[in-house]
Amino acid sequence: MTFQDLNLIEPIQRALKTAGYKKPTPIQAQSIPVALQGRDLLACAQTGTGKTAAFAIPILQLMQGKKSDSRNRNPRALILAPTRELAIQIGESFDAYGKYLSLRHTVIFGGVSQHAQTRSLQAGIDILVATPGRLLDLMNQGFIHLDDIEFFVLDEADRMLDMGFIHDVKRVIRQLPDRRQTLFFSATMPPAVADLANGILNRPQKVAVDPVSSTAERVEQAVYFVGKKQKRDLLVHLLRTEDIPTALVFTRTKHGANKVVKDLDKKGIRAEAIHGNKSQNARQQALANFKARRTRVLVATDIAARGIDVEELTHVINYDLPNISETYVHRIGRTGRAGASGIAYSFCDEEEKAYLKDIQKLINQRIPVAAGHPFPLENTPEEAPQATATASPPREKSEPQPRRNNGKRRYNRRKGKRNGPGAPANNNRQDANR
Ligand code: AMP
Repeated sequence: MTFQDLNLIEPIQRALKTAGYKKPTPIQAQSIPVALQGRDLLACAQTGTGKTAAFAIPILQLMQGKKSDSRNRNPRALILAPTRELAIQIGESFDAYGKYLSLRHTVIFGGVSQHAQTRSLQAGIDILVATPGRLLDLMNQGFIHLDDIEFFVLDEADRMLDMGFIHDVKRVIRQLPDRRQTLFFSATMPPAVADLANGILNRPQKVAVDPVSSTAERVEQAVYFVGKKQKRDLLVHLLRTEDIPTALVFTRTKHGANKVVKDLDKKGIRAEAIHGNKSQNARQQALANFKARRTRVLVATDIAARGIDVEELTHVINYDLPNISETYVHRIGRTGRAGASGIAYSFCDEEEKAYLKDIQKLINQRIPVAAGHPFPLENTPEEAPQATATASPPREKSEPQPRRNNGKRRYNRRKGKRNGPGAPANNNRQDANR
């Protein structure tokens, strides 16, 4: 299937070519024809599958074909996203796919001054991308009227509920005209999300791609059993001895994220944190530094990481294991995007073993155990086997970062494979459940 087969208009085809897209991803191939017919859509797909284009492309095409009265300044499409980062990225996608069209869009989110946002709203826009809180705020102040909405997208609905936005979302939906097309996207479909979908969709076509387990299959994973207090030494050790060009490190708390950054800084490893206590500007700057590879390690909490889309992110490191198993899949889905392979390491201390068990149940997969690292968890002989010849000894604090590659895992992005004696295919790892 090609984009031509989807009957896309020439300016969109050209934009996709400019973006370097060769063919539609499965979610795009399934969703775009349905949406172009004007039908409601219930799509089960997570980030990394190309879901943004799956709704942005048909909306752009339908809106371009039905230009509004130029006096009309109210938005005709509303995309609701749970986080600022995701909203910004959706805005960037509209920029990219609508590059050769004349539709105007803007992105609004909280945590920053509203002036620039209200200015662009007052200039008149076609497409509005918003997080729920700021949207309601600006609606209440009379800057936004949703009476002319023809297209409504609820993106990452499960996250929206997880983050406690259900009432805000319902408040927004109550303001939408009944006659509209709704595209509903969620990575998972627990009953609360299905209920919400039932309430707002009109005879939707259902599409589903990339079930949780297949995301997990795409990403090469390993678990390191390690003592809680030694996680920071293990992280430094890995960053020094493995070929890790970029790493997104997840911690459970904001405080934990700051601490990891501080520890890495002390060891001369450039890292930045991104979490809810940081200003919007600081978050955007940290993300930009990471994307440009000025920062090697970005440490994030789950909420802040939603929607982060970093091309060529090679490694995800779960410094803390999440207590909600789906979060694990969301996290590791940050790497191994659009068909590329990625690597996810998870640190598991004594208290986190139960989380690991739940995660493995969800992904229906045993995560291989990385053996032979210098900081094994004590008293878990069956899970932390003897160090092998490939294990590197702990390095002295003052030792500079090694440039050599003897005995360390090498990551080859182009092949999407690691080689070297410690690569996971060899017997350096064992099943976590054994
Ligand atoms: P998303 O799931 O929308 O967050 O998209 C994940 C990543 O895949 C983004 O970096 C997109 O730019 C990229 N992408 C989306 N569609 C395609 C496509 N058809 N071909 C190649 N890359 C794509």
